[in-house]
Amino acid sequence: MLDNMYDRHNSRPDGPRRPKHRSRPHQLADRFHTREHTTLLGVWAHPDDEAYLSAALMHRVRKAGGRVVVATATLGEAGLDSLSPDQVAVLRHQELQDALAVLDVRDLHIFGYPDGGCPDVDHGEGVERVEALIRDVRPDFIVTFGPDGITGHPDHAAVSRWTIEAWRRVGHGELLLATTTDAFRIEKDSVHEQLGVSIPQSVPDGDVALRVTPNLAERARKRDALDAHHSQTAPFAELLGYSAFHDWFVDECFRTPTPDDLEWAAHAETAGLAT
Ligand SMILES: [Zn+2]
Repeated sequence: MLDNMYDRHNSRPDGPRRPKHRSRPHQLADRFHTREHTTLLGVWAHPDDEAYLSAALMHRVRKAGGRVVVATATLGEAGLDSLSPDQVAVLRHQELQDALAVLDVRDLHIFGYPDGGCPDVDHGEGVERVEALIRDVRPDFIVTFGPDGITGHPDHAAVSRWTIEAWRRVGHGELLLATTTDAFRIEKDSVHEQLGVSIPQSVPDGDVALRVTPNLAERARKRDALDAHHSQTAPFAELLGYSAFHDWFVDECFRTPTPDDLEWAAHAETAGLAT
């Protein structure tokens, strides 16, 4: 399936160049356990996105001797009502550094866009920021949101759009889009209701290209990384109970981009959720 997809893209005049690594899904999971010195670049919108969606993957890559680079578009300064936005930015920047330190990740880039303002950033500028990072880091794998942004957050969708388009332009590495499965949505429906979280889209299990099911050590690191984002995660954990909270996003699922994703990302005027 992967081969066909890339071939289709490459037949387009403006399609991406053929990625250097063209693994099949079952080979992908294996690669992160090996000592191939994999370089992973994560591009996210707010401090804590990276922990929910890729903490176990980041830890796995670091543990195997690879490099992990994280880029976050905003400091999430709108994420707490009890402090001023400037104070929240300082707090969440520290929480992000602490969460990454748990995973032995030190390479952090902050784009510095306003929380909630990513859709207002010029599309070309957003793409160029990510493009420059991809050219500099030369990642084997890039992880980010899909167009649905997991929760439908407009910042998540904007970051997805920049990253998909940047990857298409550079044509380097494999792009993996964080996703949830239909089974997850059904299983966690009551959790989402309790937390007031919306997960508008999911995919069948068969569409998952990489599923990271954390081992015990990875689960512990992911738990600590999520807990480091205390200002954001503690209210959820207290509401659900810590054990249920840590079990919520335990598996990390990624899919490969489709031609529709590439089409959506290429045009600034189609901001918002992909249909
Ligand atoms: Zn977010």
